[in-house]
Amino acid sequence: MASLDLRSLIIMSGIMGLLLGGVMFFLRLSYPRSIRGLSLWAAAHAWVFLSAVLFAGRGFLPDFVSIVVANLVMLTAVISYHAGVEQFFGRRPAWARWIVLLVLIAPPLYWYALVEPNYNARLILVCLVWACIFLSMAWTIWRQGPENFSTRFTAVVLLIHATVLLLRFFSAWMPLAEEGLLTPTRVQSLYVGSNAVMLLALGMGLILMAGDRLRAEFEHMASHDALTNVLTRRVFLDACEQELARCRRHGRSMALLLLDIDHFKAINDTHGHQMGDRVLVDLVERIASLLRRPDQLARFGGEEFVLLLPETSQDEAVTVAERILAHVADRRDGLPPITVSIGVATNRPDEDQIDTLLARADKALYKAKDEGRNRIALA
Ligand code: GH3
Ligand code: MG
Ligand code: MG
Repeated sequence: MASLDLRSLIIMSGIMGLLLGGVMFFLRLSYPRSIRGLSLWAAAHAWVFLSAVLFAGRGFLPDFVSIVVANLVMLTAVISYHAGVEQFFGRRPAWARWIVLLVLIAPPLYWYALVEPNYNARLILVCLVWACIFLSMAWTIWRQGPENFSTRFTAVVLLIHATVLLLRFFSAWMPLAEEGLLTPTRVQSLYVGSNAVMLLALGMGLILMAGDRLRAEFEHMASHDALTNVLTRRVFLDACEQELARCRRHGRSMALLLLDIDHFKAINDTHGHQMGDRVLVDLVERIASLLRRPDQLARFGGEEFVLLLPETSQDEAVTVAERILAHVADRRDGLPPITVSIGVATNRPDEDQIDTLLARADKALYKAKDEGRNRIALA
């Protein structure tokens, strides 16, 4: 087998890493700020490139630079990946911990590079630390990421990478021939080659994760109301259609509750629009606290909300509506008192249109308003 030129391989992987880092940097500029971590991942790729240049300069550059500085730069890259993952999942990176790690690792690196040069001792140290950081990243991503391809791909890449590092860690204890970073033994070629491939695969995985997060955010924005974070009309109606079809198939009943805040305009006029917004958010929280898992709440218009209760009879729906009336009537500090009127409609066996069900709920709501508000009416 022709031996690999490890110096070229290291430089090539650094350049490809830099290109991936460029992609991440441009994603950082175009993606919304809410998708965090991209800057640190882009920086990680830049650090990888710099360390590749320094590592590849072994023999040309002073050992202090091509060993001690190169390893510290590479560790900074690995830390940047991890800190980016922490940011991606909404945590503040534990910078103090990372700085302590860099400070602690510098003296032994220096010792085994310049005082008592020993490649295996450096390998043992570096492989163990990297493997621990990659395992911690894999664990965080697997546990906190959504169950999709990008999460699994990235976690598996990290796991494989950590395994290779641990294997190299163990191999460094074995009495093999004298080696160095650029000695093209099989083990060393495999190690450097897998580092190159895995760092590229990691970059790809992180880019995919950011893309999936962006899509999820857009989907959420399209399907949820910006103020109250409940479903929008269109998504809610889709859910109703599906539930109605299920009811027809299985002969079950479902209920729709149409809720409207009484004299809401007066609240806006008296307390201001901002207070009106707070009342809307508070109302949604109160209603949501009373719901079961399959129930769905949507904002239908200004101060009008609609509730889908699957597998619910008319009596049960009225009980829920009564609970809502009572819970809304409880005073809450800092908010003006409000009442709501609720129209309740349940499906009929011959009912095959969500529009007719909604029209009846609407009629019932009007009835509740006509009869004096702060009450429930049936249709
Ligand atoms: P009724 O008891 O008959 O329902 O009377 P109402 O005053 O609640 O009904 P009306 O339809 O006259 O007024 C609804 C008000 O809701 C008018 C509008 O300014 C207000 N509104 C709609 N959307 C929002 C919103 O997002 N925030 C705030 N603060 N007010 C809103
Ligand atoms: Mg109203
Ligand atoms: Mg209204």
